[in-house]
Amino acid sequence: MTNLRIGHGYDVHRLTEGRALILGGVEIPFEKGLLGHSDADVLTHAVMDALSGAARLGDIGKLFPDTDPAYAGISSLKLLAEVGRLLKEKGYAVVNIDATLLAQRPKVAPYKPQMAENLAVALGIGAEQVNVKATTEEGLGFTGDGSGMAAHAVVLLEKIR
Ligand code: MG
Repeated sequence: MTNLRIGHGYDVHRLTEGRALILGGVEIPFEKGLLGHSDADVLTHAVMDALSGAARLGDIGKLFPDTDPAYAGISSLKLLAEVGRLLKEKGYAVVNIDATLLAQRPKVAPYKPQMAENLAVALGIGAEQVNVKATTEEGLGFTGDGSGMAAHAVVLLEKIR
């Protein structure tokens, strides 16, 4: 029996006018933002789902129901910090996180280091344990036509007690 556990997360949010675009806790200048109950930070949500999956905490819909007014407009980094607290409580430490944003526009490359830093700080881990990537889907599908963004994340946890 190994003490390592892998987790995968996937999330999608619709792009709409009149919302701020928040990715990995960074507000990025763009003509649209992601629609959702919280700040709709699709990248952070995928990371939270991957962590919850690896630790068998269920998923973020179960942890933070979107029917709960307490989470309306909340920064997803706060929710991530809460997931981090639950992980520690269950005796897990994060080994590493690899997250990928799928978006046609805007160019997010300049913001990737800050996103990784924000995710790391929320979890109380080192920035070198977090990698953030971004890709377009070559104009195809709902990310390609700009109707939404998606994100994947994989994480590795180690049971330390
Ligand atoms: Mg979400």
